[in-house]
Amino acid sequence: PYAGPSKQEVLAMRKQYLSPALFHHFKDPVMTVDGSMQYLFDEKGRRYLDAFAGIVTVSVGHCHPEVNRAVIEQTQRLQHTTTIYLHNQVAEYAKELTDRMPGNLKVAYFVNSGSEANDMAMMMARLYTHNHDIITLRNAYHGLSEATMGLLGQHTWKCAVPQGAGVHHALNPNPYRGAWGNDGPRYAADVADLIQSATPGKVAAFIHETIQGVGGAVPLADGYLPTVYKMVREAGGVCIADEVQTGFGRTGSAYWGFENQGVVPDIVTLAKGIGNGLPLAAVVTTPEIAAVLAARLHFNTYGGNPVSCAAGRAVLRVIDQEGLQANCAAVGGHLVEELRRLQGKHDIIGDVRGRGLMEPAVAEVAQVFERCKDLGVLLGKGGLHGNAFRIKPPMCWTTADVDFLVAVLDQALSEL
Ligand code: PMP
Repeated sequence: PYAGPSKQEVLAMRKQYLSPALFHHFKDPVMTVDGSMQYLFDEKGRRYLDAFAGIVTVSVGHCHPEVNRAVIEQTQRLQHTTTIYLHNQVAEYAKELTDRMPGNLKVAYFVNSGSEANDMAMMMARLYTHNHDIITLRNAYHGLSEATMGLLGQHTWKCAVPQGAGVHHALNPNPYRGAWGNDGPRYAADVADLIQSATPGKVAAFIHETIQGVGGAVPLADGYLPTVYKMVREAGGVCIADEVQTGFGRTGSAYWGFENQGVVPDIVTLAKGIGNGLPLAAVVTTPEIAAVLAARLHFNTYGGNPVSCAAGRAVLRVIDQEGLQANCAAVGGHLVEELRRLQGKHDIIGDVRGRGLMEPAVAEVAQVFERCKDLGVLLGKGGLHGNAFRIKPPMCWTTADVDFLVAVLDQALSEL
């Protein structure tokens, strides 16, 4: 049993010693002290079904035995070395990861967070193309470093600091709320317009999530990416897919989110689920683009460390061995079906959308969110107005977990 300080003591210390920027959900915050696969446990031993997975980070399950074993073995052998010395884990991991990428995406650079990966992707794009302008989407989220804050398309996360020089925000191809419905090429016209009106006619990059995560699990309208990729490449730019939330089979129908629209990016950024919770992130690109960083010294102290790489390798193995992509397709399909059934019953649900185990439903979220927690399910929340449920569980969820979640949601909605 848990023997540390009480929840009230932890909350008091957090208020006194931690940055006030840390926020918590729920009126009475949850303290999680143990985890096992799809479950979290609080300090009193109460079990919650985890429908948010540390924000899509715990991909294969909390404390997955195979990941734990790999991390412990590597920790006991050698925790840290530097990429100046050779190490097998980082080399083998780079091979195994890029083996899973299409086209010429065959070189990896490891960093520690999604923001870092996107910072680096932007820099590589600018160095490679000799252009400066970058096109991003309204409602996007790519991190909170100064450079990535410039890419953000939601005022709620932006600080009043200089950011985003040369960055332009295109119309969001949002099939539910957007002006052109699910007509991707029609939204893409705005990118052509931006290139013509806001840039020198040449751009460095277009960057996008394949399903907007923080923005409320918003997929991109059909046919959007193929049209935009072509426009951007014609304007001298490269295409960057941010797969921080959508990669590694989570969408069920594909291993990488971009494959759902049949495109192959020039640069892919990865974080969160890549390490099942260990600090690990990556930029994967072509040998030609990767070469630009070699023109100067470049170094990252923790990037590619043996322990994180051991975790990353274990995650790849577990996804294959346990058929987790197929599980996301099956369990995610059941989830959408069940949520659509609930939508028929509760008018307040405006939209059910997503792919695999990457889904939200829109509702009077705050009250339902609290009630679901009381009933034992930890959901996520997102969208500019915090009005979309984000259901992004560990990929080991079963149909029984879906049924429990739906029963809890049904009850909470019925009580509105
Ligand atoms: N890209 C996407 C799509 C994300 O959702 C996030 C984090 N929410 C990031 C990048 C930034 O990752 P990090 O917090 O590790 O910097």
